[in-house]
Amino acid sequence: MTVQQPNSFRTGPDERGHFGIYGGRFVAETLMPLILDLERAYNEAKADPKFQKEMDGHLASYVGRPSPLYFAERMTQHIRKTASGLSDGGAKIYFKREELNHTGAHKVNNVLGQIMLAKRMGKNRIIAETGAGMHGVATATLCAKFGLPCIVYMGAVDVERQKPNVLRMRMLGAEVRPVQSGARTLKDAMNEALRDWVTNVADTFYCIGTVAGPHPYPAMVRDFQSIIGRETREQMLAAEGCLPDSLIACIGGGPAAMGLFHPFLDERAIEIYGVEAAGHGIPSGQHAASIAGGRPGVLHGNRTYLLMDSDGQIVEAHSISAGLDYPGIGPEHSWLNDMGRVKFLSVTDDEAVAAFQLCSKLEGIIPALESAHALAKVPELAAQKPKDHLMVVNLSGRGDKDLASVEAFLESKK
Ligand SMILES: *Cc1c(COP(=O)(O)O)cnc(C)c1O
Repeated sequence: MTVQQPNSFRTGPDERGHFGIYGGRFVAETLMPLILDLERAYNEAKADPKFQKEMDGHLASYVGRPSPLYFAERMTQHIRKTASGLSDGGAKIYFKREELNHTGAHKVNNVLGQIMLAKRMGKNRIIAETGAGMHGVATATLCAKFGLPCIVYMGAVDVERQKPNVLRMRMLGAEVRPVQSGARTLKDAMNEALRDWVTNVADTFYCIGTVAGPHPYPAMVRDFQSIIGRETREQMLAAEGCLPDSLIACIGGGPAAMGLFHPFLDERAIEIYGVEAAGHGIPSGQHAASIAGGRPGVLHGNRTYLLMDSDGQIVEAHSISAGLDYPGIGPEHSWLNDMGRVKFLSVTDDEAVAAFQLCSKLEGIIPALESAHALAKVPELAAQKPKDHLMVVNLSGRGDKDLASVEAFLESKK
Protein backbone atom coordinates (compact mmCIF):
# COMPACT_ATOMS: atom_id res chain seq x y z
CA MET A 1 0.00 0.00 0.00
CA THR A 2 1.37 3.42 -0.87
CA VAL A 3 0.45 6.24 1.45
CA GLN A 4 0.62 9.93 0.73
CA GLN A 5 3.59 11.27 2.72
CA PRO A 6 3.23 14.65 4.44
CA ASN A 7 5.73 17.47 3.84
CA SER A 8 6.72 17.24 7.49
CA PHE A 9 6.17 14.59 10.15
CA ARG A 10 6.70 17.15 12.90
CA THR A 11 3.80 19.57 12.54
CA GLY A 12 1.03 17.47 14.13
CA PRO A 13 -1.40 17.34 15.69
CA ASP A 14 -3.95 19.62 13.99
CA GLU A 15 -5.90 22.13 16.11
CA ARG A 16 -8.37 19.45 17.20
CA GLY A 17 -5.63 17.10 18.23
CA HIS A 18 -5.65 14.72 15.28
CA PHE A 19 -2.68 12.84 13.88
CA GLY A 20 -4.34 11.61 10.70
CA ILE A 21 -7.34 9.57 11.89
CA TYR A 22 -5.84 9.13 15.39
CA GLY A 23 -5.89 11.25 18.55
CA GLY A 24 -8.67 13.77 19.12
CA ARG A 25 -10.55 14.41 22.36
CA PHE A 26 -13.28 11.94 23.16
CA VAL A 27 -14.29 13.25 26.57
CA ALA A 28 -17.40 13.97 28.59
CA GLU A 29 -18.99 17.39 28.07
CA THR A 30 -18.00 18.38 31.63
CA LEU A 31 -14.30 17.84 30.91
CA MET A 32 -14.20 19.96 27.78
CA PRO A 33 -13.72 23.37 29.48
CA LEU A 34 -10.84 21.91 31.53
CA ILE A 35 -9.14 20.48 28.49
CA LEU A 36 -9.46 23.77 26.61
CA ASP A 37 -8.13 25.65 29.63
CA LEU A 38 -5.14 23.32 29.81
CA GLU A 39 -4.46 23.70 26.10
CA ARG A 40 -4.49 27.49 26.36
CA ALA A 41 -2.19 27.48 29.39
CA TYR A 42 0.20 25.05 27.76
CA ASN A 43 0.45 27.08 24.56
CA GLU A 44 1.20 30.21 26.60
CA ALA A 45 3.83 28.46 28.73
CA LYS A 46 5.48 26.99 25.64
CA ALA A 47 5.91 30.46 24.19
CA ASP A 48 7.16 31.98 27.46
CA PRO A 49 10.98 32.12 27.67
CA LYS A 50 10.75 32.50 31.46
CA PHE A 51 8.91 29.19 31.79
CA GLN A 52 11.46 27.45 29.55
CA LYS A 53 14.38 28.96 31.43
CA GLU A 54 13.03 27.87 34.80
CA MET A 55 12.42 24.37 33.45
CA ASP A 56 15.96 24.18 32.04
CA GLY A 57 17.29 25.10 35.49
CA HIS A 58 15.36 22.29 37.19
CA LEU A 59 16.32 19.83 34.44
CA ALA A 60 19.99 20.59 35.08
CA SER A 61 20.13 20.80 38.87
CA TYR A 62 17.32 18.45 39.95
CA VAL A 63 16.89 15.88 37.17
CA GLY A 64 20.60 15.78 36.29
CA ARG A 65 20.43 16.62 32.58
CA PRO A 66 21.89 16.40 30.04
CA SER A 67 22.02 12.62 30.28
CA PRO A 68 25.13 11.24 28.60
CA LEU A 69 25.27 9.69 25.12
CA TYR A 70 27.49 6.68 25.73
CA PHE A 71 29.44 4.58 23.21
CA ALA A 72 28.65 0.96 24.15
CA GLU A 73 32.00 -0.37 23.00
CA ARG A 74 31.85 -3.91 24.32
CA MET A 75 28.34 -4.47 23.02
CA THR A 76 29.46 -3.14 19.63
CA GLN A 77 32.45 -5.52 19.61
CA HIS A 78 30.33 -8.42 20.82
CA ILE A 79 27.89 -7.99 17.94
CA ARG A 80 30.70 -7.65 15.40
CA LYS A 81 32.30 -10.85 16.72
CA THR A 82 29.22 -13.04 17.07
CA ALA A 83 27.12 -12.08 14.05
CA SER A 84 27.78 -14.75 11.43
CA GLY A 85 28.69 -13.85 7.86
CA LEU A 86 29.92 -10.39 8.82
CA SER A 87 33.06 -9.43 7.01
CA ASP A 88 32.97 -5.74 7.49
CA GLY A 89 29.74 -4.97 9.31
CA GLY A 90 28.18 -4.27 12.68
CA ALA A 91 26.86 -0.83 13.58
CA LYS A 92 28.41 1.37 16.25
CA ILE A 93 26.04 1.31 19.25
CA TYR A 94 25.34 4.31 21.49
CA PHE A 95 23.09 4.41 24.57
CA LYS A 96 21.13 7.55 25.47
CA ARG A 97 21.34 7.18 29.22
CA GLU A 98 17.95 8.21 30.59
CA GLU A 99 18.45 5.71 33.41
CA LEU A 100 20.76 8.23 35.06
CA ASN A 101 17.95 10.75 35.60
CA HIS A 102 16.68 11.38 39.11
CA THR A 103 14.07 8.64 39.86
CA GLY A 104 15.82 6.31 37.42
CA ALA A 105 13.91 6.77 34.17
CA HIS A 106 12.73 9.26 31.56
CA LYS A 107 9.33 9.86 33.18
CA VAL A 108 10.57 12.75 35.30
CA ASN A 109 11.16 14.91 32.17
CA ASN A 110 7.42 15.04 31.50
CA VAL A 111 6.27 15.25 35.11
CA LEU A 112 8.49 18.27 35.77
CA GLY A 113 6.88 20.11 32.85
CA GLN A 114 3.33 19.27 33.92
CA ILE A 115 3.83 20.15 37.59
CA MET A 116 5.36 23.49 36.61
CA LEU A 117 2.36 24.06 34.36
CA ALA A 118 -0.04 23.17 37.21
CA LYS A 119 1.62 25.77 39.43
CA ARG A 120 1.43 28.35 36.65
CA MET A 121 -2.32 27.63 36.31
CA GLY A 122 -2.83 27.98 40.06
CA LYS A 123 -3.93 24.33 40.40
CA ASN A 124 -2.74 23.11 43.76
CA ARG A 125 -4.01 19.53 43.88
CA ILE A 126 -2.23 16.99 41.67
CA ILE A 127 -3.70 13.65 40.59
CA ALA A 128 -2.05 10.94 38.51
CA GLU A 129 -2.60 7.36 37.37
CA THR A 130 0.08 4.71 37.56
CA GLY A 131 0.51 1.09 36.51
CA ALA A 132 3.94 -0.18 37.43
CA GLY A 133 4.33 2.80 39.73
CA MET A 134 7.15 4.62 37.95
CA HIS A 135 5.00 7.55 36.79
CA GLY A 136 3.42 7.65 40.25
CA VAL A 137 6.86 7.85 41.86
CA ALA A 138 7.98 10.62 39.48
CA THR A 139 4.79 12.59 40.21
CA ALA A 140 5.08 12.08 43.98
CA THR A 141 8.71 13.20 43.76
CA LEU A 142 7.99 16.50 42.03
CA CYS A 143 4.95 17.18 44.22
CA ALA A 144 7.26 16.82 47.23
CA LYS A 145 9.79 19.18 45.63
CA PHE A 146 7.12 21.81 44.88
CA GLY A 147 5.10 21.24 48.08
CA LEU A 148 1.85 20.10 46.43
CA PRO A 149 -0.58 17.41 47.64
CA CYS A 150 -0.50 14.34 45.37
CA ILE A 151 -3.08 11.59 44.87
CA VAL A 152 -2.09 8.58 42.78
CA TYR A 153 -4.72 6.19 41.41
CA MET A 154 -3.40 2.66 41.08
CA GLY A 155 -5.24 -0.57 40.28
CA ALA A 156 -5.60 -2.74 43.39
CA VAL A 157 -3.84 -5.60 41.56
CA ASP A 158 -0.89 -3.31 40.78
CA VAL A 159 -0.77 -2.06 44.38
CA GLU A 160 -0.10 -5.69 45.37
CA ARG A 161 2.33 -6.39 42.49
CA GLN A 162 4.37 -3.20 42.84
CA LYS A 163 4.81 -2.87 46.61
CA PRO A 164 8.22 -1.12 46.57
CA ASN A 165 6.89 1.73 44.41
CA VAL A 166 3.81 2.07 46.64
CA LEU A 167 6.14 2.45 49.63
CA ARG A 168 8.22 5.01 47.71
CA MET A 169 5.16 7.11 46.86
CA ARG A 170 3.98 7.06 50.48
CA MET A 171 7.45 8.01 51.73
CA LEU A 172 7.36 10.97 49.34
CA GLY A 173 4.09 12.10 50.92
CA ALA A 174 1.63 10.97 48.23
CA GLU A 175 -1.69 9.25 48.86
CA VAL A 176 -2.05 6.04 46.87
CA ARG A 177 -5.70 5.19 46.13
CA PRO A 178 -6.25 1.54 45.13
CA VAL A 179 -8.81 1.19 42.32
CA GLN A 180 -11.24 -1.72 42.64
CA SER A 181 -13.11 -1.43 39.32
CA GLY A 182 -12.62 -3.51 36.16
CA ALA A 183 -9.47 -5.60 36.03
CA ARG A 184 -8.03 -3.34 38.77
CA THR A 185 -4.97 -2.35 36.69
CA LEU A 186 -3.67 0.68 34.77
CA LYS A 187 -6.63 1.19 32.43
CA ASP A 188 -8.99 1.33 35.42
CA ALA A 189 -6.68 3.67 37.33
CA MET A 190 -6.76 6.08 34.39
CA ASN A 191 -10.57 5.93 34.25
CA GLU A 192 -10.73 6.70 37.97
CA ALA A 193 -8.34 9.65 37.64
CA LEU A 194 -10.48 11.10 34.83
CA ARG A 195 -13.53 10.73 37.11
CA ASP A 196 -11.74 12.56 39.94
CA TRP A 197 -10.83 15.38 37.55
CA VAL A 198 -14.45 15.92 36.48
CA THR A 199 -15.59 16.16 40.10
CA ASN A 200 -12.78 18.45 41.29
CA VAL A 201 -12.57 20.85 38.39
CA ALA A 202 -11.56 24.01 40.20
CA ASP A 203 -8.28 23.12 41.89
CA THR A 204 -7.08 19.85 40.31
CA PHE A 205 -4.43 19.17 37.68
CA TYR A 206 -4.32 15.72 36.08
CA CYS A 207 -0.70 14.72 35.38
CA ILE A 208 -0.82 12.03 32.65
CA GLY A 209 2.23 9.81 32.26
CA THR A 210 2.00 8.82 28.64
CA VAL A 211 1.55 10.25 25.13
CA ALA A 212 -2.13 9.28 25.21
CA GLY A 213 -5.29 10.81 26.67
CA PRO A 214 -7.29 13.64 25.10
CA HIS A 215 -5.56 16.46 23.19
CA PRO A 216 -3.35 18.32 24.23
CA TYR A 217 -1.80 15.56 26.39
CA PRO A 218 -0.18 13.49 23.60
CA ALA A 219 1.51 16.56 22.10
CA MET A 220 2.40 18.10 25.47
CA VAL A 221 3.97 14.93 26.88
CA ARG A 222 5.89 14.46 23.62
CA ASP A 223 7.19 18.02 23.78
CA PHE A 224 8.41 17.61 27.36
CA GLN A 225 10.12 14.31 26.45
CA SER A 226 11.68 15.69 23.25
CA ILE A 227 14.63 16.89 25.28
CA ILE A 228 15.89 13.30 24.84
CA GLY A 229 16.11 13.64 21.07
CA ARG A 230 17.33 17.25 21.09
CA GLU A 231 20.24 16.34 23.36
CA THR A 232 20.99 13.25 21.26
CA ARG A 233 21.31 15.41 18.13
CA GLU A 234 23.82 17.74 19.74
CA GLN A 235 25.75 14.99 21.47
CA MET A 236 26.05 12.86 18.33
CA LEU A 237 27.18 15.87 16.30
CA ALA A 238 29.83 16.54 18.94
CA ALA A 239 30.96 12.91 19.12
CA GLU A 240 30.85 11.89 15.46
CA GLY A 241 30.32 15.07 13.46
CA CYS A 242 27.05 13.80 12.02
CA LEU A 243 23.54 12.67 12.98
CA PRO A 244 22.74 9.07 13.91
CA ASP A 245 21.68 6.61 11.20
CA SER A 246 19.12 4.74 13.29
CA LEU A 247 17.14 5.09 16.53
CA ILE A 248 15.53 2.42 18.63
CA ALA A 249 13.32 2.60 21.74
CA CYS A 250 10.81 0.49 23.64
CA ILE A 251 7.14 1.42 23.73
CA GLY A 252 4.66 1.25 26.59
CA GLY A 253 2.35 4.12 25.72
CA GLY A 254 5.24 5.68 23.87
CA PRO A 255 6.69 8.83 25.52
CA ALA A 256 10.27 7.51 25.85
CA ALA A 257 10.25 6.56 22.18
CA MET A 258 8.47 9.69 20.97
CA GLY A 259 10.87 11.91 22.92
CA LEU A 260 13.85 10.38 21.14
CA PHE A 261 12.21 10.12 17.71
CA HIS A 262 10.40 13.43 17.28
CA PRO A 263 13.37 15.76 16.64
CA PHE A 264 14.59 13.35 13.91
CA LEU A 265 11.33 12.54 12.09
CA ASP A 266 12.06 14.81 9.13
CA GLU A 267 15.53 13.40 8.44
CA ARG A 268 14.03 10.65 6.33
CA ALA A 269 17.24 8.70 5.85
CA ILE A 270 17.31 7.99 9.60
CA GLU A 271 15.74 4.60 10.32
CA ILE A 272 13.43 4.60 13.35
CA TYR A 273 12.31 1.51 15.27
CA GLY A 274 9.77 1.22 18.09
CA VAL A 275 9.76 -2.02 20.07
CA GLU A 276 6.57 -3.34 21.66
CA ALA A 277 6.32 -6.11 24.24
CA ALA A 278 5.34 -9.46 22.69
CA GLY A 279 5.02 -11.14 26.13
CA HIS A 280 4.49 -14.88 25.57
CA GLY A 281 4.35 -14.23 21.80
CA ILE A 282 1.78 -12.44 19.61
CA PRO A 283 -0.11 -15.67 18.67
CA SER A 284 -0.59 -16.48 22.40
CA GLY A 285 -2.74 -13.38 22.82
CA GLN A 286 -0.74 -12.64 25.98
CA HIS A 287 1.25 -9.59 24.97
CA ALA A 288 1.22 -5.78 25.01
CA ALA A 289 1.82 -5.13 21.30
CA SER A 290 -0.97 -2.74 20.32
CA ILE A 291 0.33 -2.17 16.79
CA ALA A 292 1.27 -5.77 16.00
CA GLY A 293 -1.74 -7.35 17.70
CA GLY A 294 -4.38 -4.64 18.05
CA ARG A 295 -6.65 -2.44 15.95
CA PRO A 296 -7.92 1.15 16.05
CA GLY A 297 -10.53 2.08 18.64
CA VAL A 298 -11.21 4.74 21.29
CA LEU A 299 -9.91 4.67 24.86
CA HIS A 300 -8.98 7.37 27.41
CA GLY A 301 -10.04 10.24 25.20
CA ASN A 302 -8.23 9.36 21.96
CA ARG A 303 -8.44 7.11 18.92
CA THR A 304 -5.48 4.78 18.53
CA TYR A 305 -4.40 1.15 18.15
CA LEU A 306 -5.74 -0.88 21.10
CA LEU A 307 -5.82 -4.47 22.30
CA MET A 308 -9.46 -5.53 21.95
CA ASP A 309 -11.51 -8.71 21.79
CA SER A 310 -13.96 -9.38 18.94
CA ASP A 311 -16.66 -7.37 20.78
CA GLY A 312 -14.43 -4.32 21.03
CA GLN A 313 -13.79 -4.81 24.76
CA ILE A 314 -10.30 -3.79 25.89
CA VAL A 315 -8.26 -6.83 26.87
CA GLU A 316 -5.54 -6.97 29.50
CA ALA A 317 -2.01 -6.57 28.22
CA HIS A 318 0.74 -8.91 29.35
CA SER A 319 4.47 -8.35 29.61
CA ILE A 320 7.18 -9.37 32.06
CA SER A 321 7.85 -5.65 32.10
CA ALA A 322 5.15 -3.92 34.14
CA GLY A 323 5.95 -0.58 32.48
CA LEU A 324 5.03 -1.87 29.03
CA ASP A 325 1.68 -3.51 29.73
CA TYR A 326 -0.66 -0.72 28.63
CA PRO A 327 -3.33 -2.01 26.20
CA GLY A 328 -2.85 0.99 23.87
CA ILE A 329 -0.22 3.21 22.30
CA GLY A 330 -0.01 6.97 21.75
CA PRO A 331 -1.99 8.21 18.72
CA GLU A 332 1.07 9.80 17.08
CA HIS A 333 2.79 6.40 17.03
CA SER A 334 -0.30 4.90 15.38
CA TRP A 335 -0.12 7.55 12.67
CA LEU A 336 3.65 7.14 12.18
CA ASN A 337 3.06 3.41 11.81
CA ASP A 338 0.41 3.85 9.13
CA MET A 339 2.64 6.40 7.34
CA GLY A 340 5.51 3.93 7.38
CA ARG A 341 7.83 6.46 9.05
CA VAL A 342 8.44 4.36 12.18
CA LYS A 343 8.84 0.62 11.95
CA PHE A 344 7.30 -1.32 14.86
CA LEU A 345 8.88 -4.55 16.04
CA SER A 346 8.14 -6.75 19.03
CA VAL A 347 10.18 -8.70 21.57
CA THR A 348 9.08 -11.57 23.85
CA ASP A 349 9.66 -11.89 27.60
CA ASP A 350 12.40 -14.48 26.91
CA GLU A 351 14.27 -12.23 24.49
CA ALA A 352 14.03 -9.22 26.81
CA VAL A 353 15.43 -11.16 29.78
CA ALA A 354 18.34 -12.41 27.65
CA ALA A 355 19.12 -8.83 26.60
CA PHE A 356 18.81 -7.69 30.25
CA GLN A 357 21.53 -10.18 31.23
CA LEU A 358 23.76 -9.44 28.23
CA CYS A 359 23.74 -5.67 28.75
CA SER A 360 24.46 -6.04 32.48
CA LYS A 361 27.49 -8.25 31.83
CA LEU A 362 28.89 -6.47 28.77
CA GLU A 363 28.42 -2.86 29.80
CA GLY A 364 28.04 -2.83 33.59
CA ILE A 365 24.63 -1.24 33.17
CA ILE A 366 21.60 -3.10 34.53
CA PRO A 367 18.83 -1.84 32.24
CA ALA A 368 15.12 -1.64 33.05
CA LEU A 369 13.21 -4.61 31.63
CA GLU A 370 11.39 -2.07 29.45
CA SER A 371 14.68 -0.82 27.96
CA ALA A 372 15.82 -4.44 27.54
CA HIS A 373 13.08 -4.83 24.93
CA ALA A 374 14.81 -2.23 22.76
CA LEU A 375 18.23 -3.78 23.49
CA ALA A 376 16.97 -7.21 22.39
CA LYS A 377 16.53 -5.99 18.79
CA VAL A 378 19.95 -4.35 18.61
CA PRO A 379 22.14 -7.36 17.64
CA GLU A 380 19.93 -8.35 14.72
CA LEU A 381 19.54 -4.78 13.41
CA ALA A 382 23.16 -3.79 13.98
CA ALA A 383 24.53 -6.90 12.29
CA GLN A 384 22.93 -5.87 8.99
CA LYS A 385 24.64 -2.47 8.99
CA PRO A 386 28.14 -1.31 8.03
CA LYS A 387 30.67 -0.33 10.68
CA ASP A 388 30.16 3.40 10.18
CA HIS A 389 26.41 3.12 10.89
CA LEU A 390 25.55 4.96 14.12
CA MET A 391 22.72 3.40 16.13
CA VAL A 392 21.20 5.04 19.22
CA VAL A 393 19.26 3.00 21.80
CA ASN A 394 17.12 4.79 24.38
CA LEU A 395 18.17 3.31 27.70
CA SER A 396 14.94 4.55 29.26
CA GLY A 397 15.51 3.36 32.82
CA ARG A 398 17.55 1.35 35.26
CA GLY A 399 16.81 -2.21 36.26
CA ASP A 400 17.22 -2.36 40.04
CA LYS A 401 13.42 -2.49 40.31
CA ASP A 402 13.34 -5.57 38.04
CA LEU A 403 15.89 -7.84 39.72
CA ALA A 404 13.26 -9.87 41.60
CA SER A 405 11.12 -10.38 38.47
CA VAL A 406 14.12 -11.49 36.43
CA GLU A 407 15.26 -13.85 39.17
CA ALA A 408 11.78 -15.42 39.42
CA PHE A 409 11.57 -15.69 35.62
CA LEU A 410 14.94 -17.47 35.38
CA GLU A 411 14.00 -19.81 38.26
CA SER A 412 10.76 -20.76 36.49
CA LYS A 413 12.76 -21.83 33.41
CA LYS A 414 14.98 -24.23 35.32
C1 LIG B 1 7.40 3.56 31.92
C2 LIG B 1 8.66 3.08 31.36
C3 LIG B 1 8.76 2.73 30.01
C4 LIG B 1 7.58 2.72 29.15
O1 LIG B 1 7.78 3.57 28.15
P1 LIG B 1 6.78 4.70 27.72
O2 LIG B 1 7.67 5.84 27.67
O3 LIG B 1 5.70 4.76 28.74
O4 LIG B 1 6.36 4.18 26.40
C5 LIG B 1 10.00 2.41 29.50
N1 LIG B 1 11.09 2.33 30.28
C6 LIG B 1 11.03 2.63 31.59
C7 LIG B 1 12.25 2.53 32.40
C8 LIG B 1 9.81 3.00 32.17
O5 LIG B 1 9.76 3.28 33.47
